[in-house]
Amino acid sequence: MPETQLWTSEDILMATGADLLWGNRDIPFPDIGTDSRKRKPDALFVALQGENHDGHNFMKKALDAGYGGILMEKSRWQEFSPILKNQNLPVFGVDNTLQALGRLARYRLGIYGAKVLAVTGSNGKTSTKEMLGNIFRKQGPCLVTRGNFNNEIGLPLTLFQLKPMDLWAILELGMNHPGEMERLSAICLPDMAVITRIAPAHLEGLGSVEGIAKAKGEIFTHMKTGGSILINGSDPHSQLIPLRQDRRVQYFGQSDHCDFYMKNLACHAGGSSFDLCRQNKPPVAITLNIPGTMMAENALAAAAAALMAGVPENLIQEGLSEFTGCPGRFRPMTTEVGFTVIDDTYNANPDSMEAALKQTRLMDKKGRTFAILGSMGELGEEAPALHRHVGSLAAKAGISALYACGPNGTDIAYGARSAGLEEVFCENKETIASMILPGLMPGDQVLVKGSRSMSMESVVDQLMQAA
Ligand code: ATP
Ligand code: MG
Repeated sequence: MPETQLWTSEDILMATGADLLWGNRDIPFPDIGTDSRKRKPDALFVALQGENHDGHNFMKKALDAGYGGILMEKSRWQEFSPILKNQNLPVFGVDNTLQALGRLARYRLGIYGAKVLAVTGSNGKTSTKEMLGNIFRKQGPCLVTRGNFNNEIGLPLTLFQLKPMDLWAILELGMNHPGEMERLSAICLPDMAVITRIAPAHLEGLGSVEGIAKAKGEIFTHMKTGGSILINGSDPHSQLIPLRQDRRVQYFGQSDHCDFYMKNLACHAGGSSFDLCRQNKPPVAITLNIPGTMMAENALAAAAAALMAGVPENLIQEGLSEFTGCPGRFRPMTTEVGFTVIDDTYNANPDSMEAALKQTRLMDKKGRTFAILGSMGELGEEAPALHRHVGSLAAKAGISALYACGPNGTDIAYGARSAGLEEVFCENKETIASMILPGLMPGDQVLVKGSRSMSMESVVDQLMQAA
């Protein structure tokens, strides 16, 4: 079988129900793309209507850049036909291009027939998905979502990378509004789903933790018959997920009430180890070479899902022990001067702030601990209270000083001071590194964390460069 098959016009028409509005239907496409700046010779360009940009305005640019055809919304044909009729390349028209993108992905998945393991949850999706990738690659070819391509555009673009020989697609699914997870589930029709945990994140779009649990539960809507689900049995919020009688649900967690539970967890600065236990089976010893109890929790979820999928135990052990972590997710980096910067800048919500602060306290350390915390986004009306709460957690984490920044920096600082921390500074992000650097000594550690919108990695860069 070839590496990847070409997309014929028949494929496009069958998958999307499109009309051929113009051009020669005999030209096949090697790929599908949505970004006119990315060179994809002869590929089909799908014109998406985004919040900020309308892909229809980039159709000409895409064709000039080498794309070989267009999929657009029929309602825009009149407007753009003068440009598109200047060439003989095929133009397909649909009612909704975003929906069509998802249908194309589902069509390709249906033809290749890979099994789908979908990973969702409020925190730990990317980390768990990457661990699963490390495990599943040991037993054969599989597709793994690249980075964070987890939404209604990223998921189809991921599935277009599927190869005929792939046995599994390990897919990250993320959302911030009700209904989105249902649509993602309709695209990838999961055989298995893992929900890492439920926590307040994206409250602006989802209203409450109950709303989040309900929205995550939409993943089950289009699961294949007989599909199985893995849920966090130690996370009280996960109990709010509406389950379905016709699906097999299993739990992972800390207690032996769970189907897969951990015993003898030992965490140290460079990693952790634990025994994965199940009823009537000998334990499986897991070693992880990245730090953090939350990463051990993700590893338990990944190992349990892999066992459910029938992956041999030794491949699970190997895959996890070789996992080197994801950039920006609780990564300690020791500088030449001898202090350690813990880069957890990829993202933040109250749950992952709590996990990071707790974990920082547990790290083997020879000096003092500092925290540089940026604001958390998308928390709606509850933002001030949730930031104050994080400030109080920082105070309880036994840190020597806290530097807060961003739109809710004053709330973090207020929470920390109210909980008894004296050394609290609310500062401009750009000035924090120069404030903290002169006092840092070998053995000290600095946790840096904030929402994606805060780009706290610039602070990490400043600290690393100066050291
Ligand atoms: P996003 O929604 O941004 O895609 P994600 O769910 O993919 O996030 P990761 O990228 O794996 O999650 O991690 C994001 C942040 O959450 C990191 O700061 C990480 O340290 C923290 N985190 C990861 N796993 C957990 C966990 N099990 N519990 C709490 N926090 C976690
Ligand atoms: Mg992610």
